Amino acid sequence: MTDRPAHHGPEGRFRIPWPVENPEGRARGGVLRWQWERIWTRLPSNPPPSALPLVAGRVARPRADAGEIRVTWIGHASFLVQIGGRNVLLDPHFGPRASPFRWMGPRRLVPPGLALDALPPVDAVLLSHDHYDHLDAWSVRQLHRRFGDAVRWIAPLGHAAWLRAHGIGNVADVDWWDAVDLPGGEGALTVTCAPAQHWTRRRMREYNDRLWGSFALRTAAGASVYFGGDSGYFGGYGEIGARLGPFHAVLMPIGAYEPRWFMAPAHMNPEEAVRAYRDLGSRGAFVPMHWGTFRLTDEDPLEPPVRLRAAWANAGLPPDDLHVLRHGETLVLEGIGRA
Ligand code: ZN
Ligand code: ZN
Repeated sequence: MTDRPAHHGPEGRFRIPWPVENPEGRARGGVLRWQWERIWTRLPSNPPPSALPLVAGRVARPRADAGEIRVTWIGHASFLVQIGGRNVLLDPHFGPRASPFRWMGPRRLVPPGLALDALPPVDAVLLSHDHYDHLDAWSVRQLHRRFGDAVRWIAPLGHAAWLRAHGIGNVADVDWWDAVDLPGGEGALTVTCAPAQHWTRRRMREYNDRLWGSFALRTAAGASVYFGGDSGYFGGYGEIGARLGPFHAVLMPIGAYEPRWFMAPAHMNPEEAVRAYRDLGSRGAFVPMHWGTFRLTDEDPLEPPVRLRAAWANAGLPPDDLHVLRHGETLVLEGIGRA
């Protein structure tokens, strides 16, 4: 008998510890079948640049007031979250491609919504997992060169060795439900790693050597943000909401879902993202991500927000709580944590 958590598999690998709703895509040979079927599928063309505008955001410099939350969409899963007087980057990606190569792989449709050299001082970087659309080595090196060990890097188990190999020492390696307190600012900011339904790999021979996760950020005054990372829909959002919520803002992935038979275990679609938001407690601003930046899968790159708006309306959720940000745009929530 060991008391190893269910998501810790044998031989140091991690695993999804619950039954997956659509397991077909996890069968062997899925990538080959997808690529084979893709030869015969007419994929939608790339959208014109005007369909994905880049706008100037409202980043607070150097930091936002403690009573505010500012969420700036840099693109894909990258955000600058200003909360509790701290500046926190989520899955920062400023590179030209979501790929291990500079000459091939999914190319960026839109420049980063906030340039690397336009960032305010960064206090922490949260990494959800090691896939190339979320963990970009060039961006990591640039951030480390600019901010050094003033930045606290927080990532699920297994990423610390990769970060140390890139010269980064100020790392918290966290399991699901582990919490890290960030010093400085006005009062405590606690970052808690939470479950997600996904997988990891950077090199061919690696598979689930590193854990994946989502994150909750909460200040002592009660300001709170949930970042869903990369995830298929699973039944755990009720528990995340009960343990770590409610949230003022919920950042959820809505893209990279076609073909469903293959993508469903690892990527939720817009309807599932709304279902997850309701499971979390139907509270706070919904900010979609993981769409419109890198073209990873087969759906039309402009389809996710259209389906999201329809799913939101069908669920009868308040229109004012849905915030489909453009690249670079900032959601500002004021008067938080004040009596
Ligand atoms: Zn991923
Ligand atoms: Zn992803």
